[in-house]
Amino acid sequence: MDADLRRHAEAARGFMPVEEGMALHDAAAALEVPGPLLEVGSYCGKSSIYLGAAAKGQGRVLFAVDHHRGSEENQPGWEWHEPELVDPAVGRIDTLPWFRRAVHDAGLEGTVVAVVGDSPSVAAAWATPLAFLFIDGGHGDEPARTDYERWTPHVVPGGVLCIHDVFPDPADGGRPPYEQIYRPALESGRFAEERAVGSLRVLRRR
Ligand code: SAH
Ligand code: MG
Repeated sequence: MDADLRRHAEAARGFMPVEEGMALHDAAAALEVPGPLLEVGSYCGKSSIYLGAAAKGQGRVLFAVDHHRGSEENQPGWEWHEPELVDPAVGRIDTLPWFRRAVHDAGLEGTVVAVVGDSPSVAAAWATPLAFLFIDGGHGDEPARTDYERWTPHVVPGGVLCIHDVFPDPADGGRPPYEQIYRPALESGRFAEERAVGSLRVLRRR
């Protein structure tokens, strides 16, 4: 990965350890099928920079889907709440300014396209085949299952599905990404596992 972009990715606010970010980047950089990339759950743009760097190198585009109001666990009183992300005028989290600034500073405005909205609503209108899909959105059972059902059919054969926060052992973290995305993807026979780094799983569409 380009050293400058890697520095920007590491400096960005967010929830993506370096090794997992690099694995995400490397999976995207090695794509051999045509098509754009799409991520569900951008937050302040950390994963967007790892993926955007790979997309830029290949002349692809990354669609970054997020309503930018935060997941359940980002809300006040929850474990992953960051008070400085609250828009005082609205009284709700707004990660869009942080995302926009991070993408700008990384020089990726021509590569990363923000799609601001609710994931199922965007998915319902989506028709473009995807070379790469990264799911890191809502981590409750229902949001995770919905992202699996609505987005994974768009991944082309030979394309990649990456899933974040996959914890096979309940002691390590919440289960929905494991139970509602990772397991169903493998059990469907449509995807085969290629790599596991931390809580990141890299699957290939058969
Ligand atoms: N990939 C990010 C972390 C994502 S955190 C990183 O590298 O740091 C999860 C994100 O999913 C939050 O920003 C939240 O706003 C978004 N999200 C949760 N449910 C969503 C939904 N239904 N539609 C769109 N975005 C959603
Ligand atoms: Mg995550």
